[in-house]
Amino acid sequence: MSRQKAGKKYRKKTMAERQKFYQKVGKSCVFCDSEKTLSCHRKDGGSHMRIAKLTLRQIQKENQKDYARLCFRCHFGVHWVMKYLYLTWDEIEEFIE
Ligand SMILES: [Zn+2]
Repeated sequence: MSRQKAGKKYRKKTMAERQKFYQKVGKSCVFCDSEKTLSCHRKDGGSHMRIAKLTLRQIQKENQKDYARLCFRCHFGVHWVMKYLYLTWDEIEEFIE
C-alpha cells in the first residue's frame, strides 16, 4: 500500500472512531437537549484536548463514560458552577431530572 493510501485509510478510521465516540457520549446536550454547538465535557472538570484533535490511539484510550455531551452554553455554565460554587459533576448531575 502506498504511503498516501495508508494515510487516507488512517484518517478515515480516525474519523469513524471519533463519530463512534460522539455517539456513545450522546447526540444532544444532557441539560437542554440542544443538538447544536455540542462539545464533550470531561466530568472531572479537568481540561482536556478536544476530541476532534485526538489521534486514533488517543481516542481509543478515552472512556466515553468520563464525558458528557453538552452544548456550548451549558458547557460554559457547568464550568462556571464547578469553578465558583465548587460543585462536582455528580452534584450537578442531580439537576438533570
Ligand atoms: Zn445545553
